[in-house]
Amino acid sequence: MGETVMPEIDASLCLLCGYCVAACPAGALSLSEGGVHLDESLCAYCGDCEAVCPNGAISLPYEVRVQNAKTAGPLGEPPAVPHGPT
Ligand code: SF4
Ligand code: SF4
Repeated sequence: MGETVMPEIDASLCLLCGYCVAACPAGALSLSEGGVHLDESLCAYCGDCEAVCPNGAISLPYEVRVQNAKTAGPLGEPPAVPHGPT
């Protein structure tokens, strides 16, 4: 399908605390007057924003979490690359 699925931010639950902005390793989140803004081109789907939000205002779609659990190490770790013969 190729559909891009992004973290969903529920503005009605957002407390504007900024925790998610500070936690986002990709710098994809910013706070503005209207609430939290997500730069979709930067988001790495790590789920850190969801984990730190004290009010459940951010949620990653379940499929994304499963995909991350299968393929990703902690963010910042390069993917495992098999070493060739030396
Ligand atoms: S899922 Fe990760 S990269 Fe995307 S906005 Fe949340 S903390 Fe940032
Ligand atoms: S952590 Fe949650 S409540 Fe705090 S600014 Fe981000 S979305 Fe809003």
